[in-house]
Amino acid sequence: MAESKQRLEIVTPQKKVFNEDVNFVVIPGELGELGILPNHAPLMTSLKIGEVRIQMDGNTTRMAISGGFAEIVKNKVTILADTAERPEDIDFERAERAKERAEKRLADKSADIDFIRAEMALKRAINRLRMKQ
Ligand code: ATP
Repeated sequence: MAESKQRLEIVTPQKKVFNEDVNFVVIPGELGELGILPNHAPLMTSLKIGEVRIQMDGNTTRMAISGGFAEIVKNKVTILADTAERPEDIDFERAERAKERAEKRLADKSADIDFIRAEMALKRAINRLRMKQ
């Protein structure tokens, strides 16, 4: 029989952040957002900096992640994220400081900066700040 739920597990190098049965999950795939319903076909994709949206018994939970991989096998979605934070765990002042730091680096044409690194830091900060709403 087709299942109405699927297991979602989100892990980072530090800890298991989430492990529950959910109805629907949207993940920030490298090629665009992917909405995953139970009984999805097997899939593996890399993930961008973005938001994971989880629907569970009528509630929506959001999580900011900064890239990683997702695998779907046998009604289980596993997300291996570089970092994953719920909105209530985000220090928005810290994210604001990180954003300003990255913007300064990117604006400083004379400095010998690692452009990609600064750009990724800026994207992570903006992604965290977006979780305020
Ligand atoms: P910062 O420059 O402020 O450290 P960052 O983007 O370089 O930001 P990361 O390397 O992505 O930080 O994350 C390092 C650790 O700190 C991870 O465990 C991540 O979840 C946590 N973290 C980073 N920024 C925040 C934040 N604003 N609020 C809560 N946790 C954060």
